[in-house]
Amino acid sequence: MNIINNPSGFHDAYVFDMDGTIYLGDHLLPGAARMINELRRREIPVRFLSNNPTKDPEQYADKLAKLGLPTDISDIANTVVTTTRWLTEHHPDAVLFCISEEPLKKALRKAGFTLSEDPEKIDIVIASYDRGFDYRKLQIAFDAIWFHKRAFLIQTNPDRFCPFPGGRGEPDCAAMTAAIEACTNTTCEVSLGKPSPIMLYEALTGLDVQVENCVMVGDRLQTDIQMAIDTNMKSALVLTGEATAEDVEQLSDAQLPSYVMDRVDRLIPPDAWHELGWTEQDD
Ligand SMILES: [Mg+2]
Repeated sequence: MNIINNPSGFHDAYVFDMDGTIYLGDHLLPGAARMINELRRREIPVRFLSNNPTKDPEQYADKLAKLGLPTDISDIANTVVTTTRWLTEHHPDAVLFCISEEPLKKALRKAGFTLSEDPEKIDIVIASYDRGFDYRKLQIAFDAIWFHKRAFLIQTNPDRFCPFPGGRGEPDCAAMTAAIEACTNTTCEVSLGKPSPIMLYEALTGLDVQVENCVMVGDRLQTDIQMAIDTNMKSALVLTGEATAEDVEQLSDAQLPSYVMDRVDRLIPPDAWHELGWTEQDD
């Protein structure tokens, strides 16, 4: 069965997962730079997504620039950006208790939010990927949610662990969320990162585009592709990261990506490849 199916035309906007899609470790994937440059030349919006809330968007911009793909900070939407945007839109006056590392706190303060450790004042507890998580923070969350019965719980991203090259990893946001849920007997009300459609809607903030004419590009079926399907957006799976051709053959019709590509520059339609004189040998 030939599962490869490339787009035949351009879309209104392109949203990219990064690791396994644009780069792998410290190397850009074949065709990634020329593909992004071609979209930008055509003035088609490009956005980059990450579930990791422990980094500033600036750090992703630096990484992409070092790899040879200079990128505006405004084109990067990690969960620091999307959580701040979502709270600004839905709970602009909320007092927040942030179980997170510095980048999220910094972004929330900059957006004008009050952060507090006083359980009597906290409206929303935000669980995040926090390598400084401790009993004191858990007690504050517990008091705000269970004892004072005023705060509710949201999380930046649903990941259980963050994988590292070589097979190890680190406990991620789901561990903080689970600790708070367990002692307060409540359930996290909102999850911002992939695969929540909120992540995609927030990433497209400020763009005058139709969601159904945009495409989400990624290497993971359960997050990148599922999120696009749930958002009614086009989805493009690249076979350069986690998912394999065998994984695609196991999918039901409802789970199938709109496109399955062997390399990410297949997003540029065949006619344009031909006009540009591109071959698979150079990138
Ligand atoms: Mg990925």
